Amino acid sequence: MKKALVIGGGAAGCTAAHQLMLQGSWDVTLVEGSSFLGAGVRTFWYGGHPYTFGPRHFLTQNKRVYDYMNAICPLRSCADHQFITYVERDNAFYNYPIHEDDISQMPDNDLIAAERKAAVGVANAKNLEEYWIGSVGQRLYDKVIDKYNKKMWLVDDNKRIDTFNWSPKGVTIKSGPRAAWNTAMSAYPYAPDGYNRFFDVTVEDVNVLLNTRIKRFDIQNRTVWIKDEKLSYDIIINTISPDELFEQCYGELAYIGRDFHKIVFPTENVFPEHVYFLYYANDEKFTRLVEYKKLTHHKSPTTLVGMEIPSLNGKHYPLPFLSEQELARKYFDLMPDNVYSIGRAGSYRYGLDIDDCIEQAMIMAQQVKEGGRDYPVPMEIWRV
Ligand SMILES: Cc1cc2nc3c(=O)[nH]c(=O)nc-3n(C[C@H](O)[C@H](O)[C@H](O)COP(=O)(O)OP(=O)(O)OC[C@H]3O[C@@H](n4cnc5c(N)ncnc54)[C@H](O)[C@@H]3O)c2cc1C
Repeated sequence: MKKALVIGGGAAGCTAAHQLMLQGSWDVTLVEGSSFLGAGVRTFWYGGHPYTFGPRHFLTQNKRVYDYMNAICPLRSCADHQFITYVERDNAFYNYPIHEDDISQMPDNDLIAAERKAAVGVANAKNLEEYWIGSVGQRLYDKVIDKYNKKMWLVDDNKRIDTFNWSPKGVTIKSGPRAAWNTAMSAYPYAPDGYNRFFDVTVEDVNVLLNTRIKRFDIQNRTVWIKDEKLSYDIIINTISPDELFEQCYGELAYIGRDFHKIVFPTENVFPEHVYFLYYANDEKFTRLVEYKKLTHHKSPTTLVGMEIPSLNGKHYPLPFLSEQELARKYFDLMPDNVYSIGRAGSYRYGLDIDDCIEQAMIMAQQVKEGGRDYPVPMEIWRV
């Protein structure tokens, strides 16, 4: 049997291990630095309430990915989900993404309408700020986008955000029925422990080493040191930050992390019906609140809300800066044949969600079978 090493036991790593095992010709070892699989997608409990680190809502356009997750962790539809954003200067909650109906209710809607009419477009936009102002004008940008993105990326100028999924048509403000906003399948596992079964089933026949952080690599020879033992593999699937595989020889890749707080409220629910997430677009330090019951349907006279505060703790968000993307590319270029790098950190791409990590792992396994390779696995998904 050929030997495969998977580095990291999150959604990407566990799916990769599973997909290789399904081929029947691989002896797969998965190493995970922490004491559990799943990373932030794993369900834990606080005050009896199940929660994950941030929402981990399953949203996908890909039926194959949906069916794969649904077969392992049966999914309940969350098609009713709504996200709203609080704008302090209007003292109002608006739909997020912004909807035409919200704009028409804003106190300065006439000025916004005039600015939108005069907007110069995005043909010459070089960064997030120019893109938004060129699309919708200064006021709407100031209200909803400016402060949110500065705190999200810990920058004092949104001009630093110079690579993201921008459309040549500019920002589209949705209109019409809310249900048409999002064509993705929206779901969450029925099980009280969320996705945990996924991280058991996918590695059933895999040699899993927990509490094992690889620190020494000789990637050119597909060799690593695991607990001081030098081991070589036929293929390596990496899901951690690519700079770590090369002793950060070109410099360290930057990430934004998260501080996470759990708050129990003494009422059955705190958010309005159908509202799963609240975004905050002002000076408060937090970006997003999530009421977990909306996802989990947990029954309790109290309710649990999670609060996310951007920080430098953890490698959760690769930066949408061209300079960092180019640095990541230099590391991808160092990777030899039969070394794949997938997942959010492994691809160094913000916007890679659970479904995207699964899809990437499936594409990777197909490439392994066919003897191909591409870095990162080709999926151009950028969202800011
Ligand atoms: C706060 C937050 C909320 C999110 N909410 C959603 C959401 O609602 N819906 C959605 O679809 N997506 C969401 N995402 C994104 C999605 O969950 C992630 O993109 C996805 O789970 C990443 O999986 P991964 O396997 O690429 O990486 P990870 O889950 O980060 O897994 C990498 C693993 O590698 C391990 N590791 C690191 N270094 C080493 C080492 N040297 N040796 C061994 N192991 C190591 C880590 O411990 C970790 O377990 C969210 C992300 C965040 C940060």
